[in-house]
Amino acid sequence: MRKATLKLEGKRFGLYVVLSKGSKPRYWVTKCDCGKVTETRGSR
Ligand SMILES: [Zn+2]
Repeated sequence: MRKATLKLEGKRFGLYVVLSKGSKPRYWVTKCDCGKVTETRGSR
């Protein structure tokens, strides 16, 4: 059985759109409206 994973790819949070999972658990690669790509820690 697979662990429940939040499906966040493509989701938008305010100015940011999630591109993919980050390099660390609970981190997500997000892209800002201005085009800047950053890794952000998710809430879960
Ligand atoms: Zn920005």
